[in-house]
Amino acid sequence: MKRILTVVLCLGLLLTASLPGLAADFNATGYPIVDETLTLTFVAPKAPLAPNYDEMELIQRLEAETNVQIIWENIPEADYQTAKNLILASGDLPDAFYKADFTDYDLITYGQAGLIIPLEDLIEEYAPNVKALFEQRPELRSMVTAPDGHIYSLPRAEEMGLVSTPFFLSINTTWLERLGLEMPETLEEFANVLRAFRDQDPNGNGIQDEIPFSFMFDWWCADIGDLFAAFGMADNSQHRIVRDGQVIFTAIQPEYREAIEYFHGWYQEGLIDPESFTQTASQYLAKGKMDPERLGAYIWWETEEVVGPERAADYALVGPLEGPHGHRLVGRSNNSEYNRAAFVITAVNKHPEVTMRWIDRLYEPYMSAQVTWGPLGIIYELDENGMLVNLPLPEGVSMGEYRQRVAPTGVGVVLQEHFGTVVDMEPRAKQRLQDIEEVYAPYQEAENYPMIFFSPEELEQINILEQDILDFVNLKRATWIVDGGIEQEWESYLNQLNRMGLQELLEIYQTGLDRFNANQ
Ligand code: CA
Repeated sequence: MKRILTVVLCLGLLLTASLPGLAADFNATGYPIVDETLTLTFVAPKAPLAPNYDEMELIQRLEAETNVQIIWENIPEADYQTAKNLILASGDLPDAFYKADFTDYDLITYGQAGLIIPLEDLIEEYAPNVKALFEQRPELRSMVTAPDGHIYSLPRAEEMGLVSTPFFLSINTTWLERLGLEMPETLEEFANVLRAFRDQDPNGNGIQDEIPFSFMFDWWCADIGDLFAAFGMADNSQHRIVRDGQVIFTAIQPEYREAIEYFHGWYQEGLIDPESFTQTASQYLAKGKMDPERLGAYIWWETEEVVGPERAADYALVGPLEGPHGHRLVGRSNNSEYNRAAFVITAVNKHPEVTMRWIDRLYEPYMSAQVTWGPLGIIYELDENGMLVNLPLPEGVSMGEYRQRVAPTGVGVVLQEHFGTVVDMEPRAKQRLQDIEEVYAPYQEAENYPMIFFSPEELEQINILEQDILDFVNLKRATWIVDGGIEQEWESYLNQLNRMGLQELLEIYQTGLDRFNANQ
């Protein structure tokens, strides 16, 4: 009897020792996470100016708090993707990839091959901060849920709300005053202002050298997609919007056709800078700083960057312009402030529960802000309301550089409601957000196309079809605005797109969107 008991006990010990995640001194709540220091190995890319992460103050504080020591294999950002692929191919895996930046294809193939592990049960048991975020934002959970139903990665988000409307239209108000004109409210009033800029020498040098209106065709923050909205539907560089859960390809809609016919009129009248279709960003930004002033109106995500700090006061934002049929609308871009693959745990990790508790610490809102911008006492202090506010920077350093040195970044979630409560926003970003809320938000399209997790088969189909379709659409879009001809070519254009597989492509996007919505 005694002997049997011993055998059973030994077997029990053996089982305990061989199962991962059962560190004897593991604390399921509170800190430290383990009573005896435990070591884990993480691979992480790092910014050019960043030291190895073990030298970062924030990381050292985490070690002291948790008793978990991370051996950091930091790889320079530029080499990371190649290095990551080599590591995965070699099978010599770290315990986790921090700031993992796995592609969707990586996540699902390495997940299904068992090189990285599903996290949903670990989240449920050991990640109260991540769980709380998923409850607040069910779309964060959808975003990281693979088509096979597993969660292989933790998300990253910085919801500043700054990229939802990238097409800020600025106008020269000094010129408006000089010519006795009002801020335009409709597309037609705007056109009349451009005509006046063209004809009435607002820069006063006696030469007709004014550029009434310039933009950058198909550039993420300088395209005229939001002017299309005056005809009832904004355009964007994917030509893809969502209304009532339905994916709409803008570039085959009657609103789009009417907009192009109309803007061809502007082009013929000389209201549009012909270089709008060819100029580079640096040429465009230089144009705003020429002497004397030559730019009447332009599109860019920040007024000042185009015309420079001294001249910025001469320009003001134009709100959404009302179109010929009474539409006043702003698009909602598909640019994302989210990353799906911030953190993954590999199959060799013997302490996934410790790892999950450690990483979950970084999803606590105050910690997420410090991971993103830098630690308390270095970048931040707490104000009387307990909010993280910026300390003055040391002399001679820029925010961007300093942040690289002190903030590991890449992991954590800062939600929109955390700005102004948990963490203050830098003044520049604050101003832009205020502009968005006041000028654009009331007219903004309700939905956009979210970050969908496609299957490898879907991704392959998208890769085959999409680029040719977009190239064709954009070529016609530019040609029709410059040379006209949309009336004659419209039918053959629609047929050509169908032959190129547009309907199949839209079906994939619709299926993905339906799946995403069903997961929420
Ligand atoms: Ca002039």
